[in-house]
Amino acid sequence: MPSLRVTGCFLSVAFASAVIPGIEKWDPANNLLWVANGLLLAYLLVAPRWRWPAYLFAGFLALFIRALIFPAQWNVILLYNLLDLIEIGAAALLLRPRSAELPSFTERSYFIRFLGFGVLLAPALAGAVFATTLQFWKVDAQPHPFLNWIASDSLGIAICTPAFVAVFRARLKKTLRWSPQWYYPALLFAVTVAAFAQNAVPLVYFIYPLLVIVLVRLGLGYASLCTLFVAAIAGWWTIHGRGPFAHLNPMYPSSPALHLQLAIASAVLLIYSVSLVLEHRSAIERRLEKIVSLHALVTENSRDVILLADFHGNRSYISSAGGRFGYTAEEFASHNSIDLIHPDDRPIGQEAVRKLLLGAEGDLIQTRIRNRDGNYVWVESSLRLIRDPKTGAPTGILNMARDISERKETEKKLQDAYKAVEALAATDALTGIANRRRFDQVLSSEWRRSLRTRSPLSLLMIDADLFKSYNDTFGHPRGDSCLKQIAEAAQDVVARPGDLVARFGGEEFAVVLPNTGSDGALLLASEICDSMRGRRLPHPGSAAGVVTVSVGCATLVPSFGQHAVNLIELADNALYRAKHRGRDRAVAAGDCEEQLREPAAERPDHVSIARSA
Ligand code: GH3
Ligand code: MG
Ligand code: MG
Repeated sequence: MPSLRVTGCFLSVAFASAVIPGIEKWDPANNLLWVANGLLLAYLLVAPRWRWPAYLFAGFLALFIRALIFPAQWNVILLYNLLDLIEIGAAALLLRPRSAELPSFTERSYFIRFLGFGVLLAPALAGAVFATTLQFWKVDAQPHPFLNWIASDSLGIAICTPAFVAVFRARLKKTLRWSPQWYYPALLFAVTVAAFAQNAVPLVYFIYPLLVIVLVRLGLGYASLCTLFVAAIAGWWTIHGRGPFAHLNPMYPSSPALHLQLAIASAVLLIYSVSLVLEHRSAIERRLEKIVSLHALVTENSRDVILLADFHGNRSYISSAGGRFGYTAEEFASHNSIDLIHPDDRPIGQEAVRKLLLGAEGDLIQTRIRNRDGNYVWVESSLRLIRDPKTGAPTGILNMARDISERKETEKKLQDAYKAVEALAATDALTGIANRRRFDQVLSSEWRRSLRTRSPLSLLMIDADLFKSYNDTFGHPRGDSCLKQIAEAAQDVVARPGDLVARFGGEEFAVVLPNTGSDGALLLASEICDSMRGRRLPHPGSAAGVVTVSVGCATLVPSFGQHAVNLIELADNALYRAKHRGRDRAVAAGDCEEQLREPAAERPDHVSIARSA
């Protein structure tokens, strides 16, 4: 396969170096454009570098063919060939310093290197050596050897290299399939023939726009190829005395070849400059497309609904996840953001917008949003301020809204469970009233409140009378149900919401009475005694024959330096007195100060004291 390509290189370069000029009957010294070098350079630019010697050798041999068509001195022919090879080799090396680099004429930096090295520097070097050598040999081959060399080789490389690179790299099956785009090259050839085959109407100006159309439709490679064909057609007719350049204008008495070369050079300049602009634009388009598709990928696959709205809640964009609220994109856009928020949560939304307007960059809020079937869904909205990229002025709000109904439900369940656990932790399992832990908390907080408000705080300590013997008589289970009755009796009497009846421990109960004076407390205590007695639970060991309780009352207006435990001590002492005076009664602590000064040894040891209060 590679050897086939080298053979192809030999044949095509031979054809380009001898047959084309031969058919054209053009003076080789005055060549219009030198196709062979551009063609050979194209071969080198697409072939691996290690194959270059083979291509260069094939090219070198092929170039000898021109000696058959245009006999000249052997040393001049050899010079032509060597300089051609040096020109092509130098251009190829400069354009492809690394073997992996492939030609890309639409890339700005490569294109500039191609123009600099391939089109200008390499032909200028070879042309200078050629002109100097001819002068040295005193061979008078042509009037302006340097200029002629440069003009034909530069043009040849400028047109032919991109053209043949495009042809070599094209996937022939795909590109050669007939499509309406091929009408443009066909039209171009027709116009070119029409412009150069006659002298009456100057149609040559139509060639340029058609070349641009070919460039836009088929790319730079095919536009270059078309330019080559235009040059061939134009050259053919110009040699045969037809077309706009065949007859010299007395104003510009230069050769027809120079006119034609200038016309082709301007065509090359046109397609190259348009190609660079097009490539620049399509690079931007490709970048934009990438950004747009990335953006679509993120927004359309996000579980969050992404909304853009102005400060009045008018929406300009909504991502497809908006469908999870049941609205179509149009319906969503037609709703105002604030209108969809639950009336109770609207102040939250309005406050967030106000904050953003005052300069905050973002906010995170939780609101309920009405979905299409009228139900409300919990949504967490991450709000961000949008600014005008140029002026920096705030233009609206980016809202990334997330459905958090499940999270809210879980949160509620957790909260309920926590409340239940907390209630359990505060309840006495036997009687169902507050336990000792809850009693300590309530007494402590009521103590602080009374300290603040300078209001009286009362405490009742209740103890079942002769309960040990009750247990002994009826057994513990009956004892337990009796304790329940005592709890009920106390609760029946205590009616105010702030009051608390708690099991203090064993067969002892406590009642916290906030904002209650000593008289009120004693009254309640007596009522509890009456209520318990009124239940008429038989107790053979008791003097009354039924279960009774004794109650000690204490009241304090807390002051600094005192502690809640002092109140318990007072109530406890009063209870002790009640027992001492015969049980089944309520006794008030009396003079509190005096009670507090009583020695600790007198305290009854059957009452434990809350030190933590
Ligand atoms: P007093 O009138 O002097 O208070 O006599 P008392 O027998 O009640 O005195 P004491 O405090 O010595 O006895 C308390 C008894 O209460 C001891 C225990 O058998 C009983 N008791 C304590 N807790 C429970 C309980 O949870 N269930 C039952 N059934 N009995 C309990
Ligand atoms: Mg007792
Ligand atoms: Mg007791």
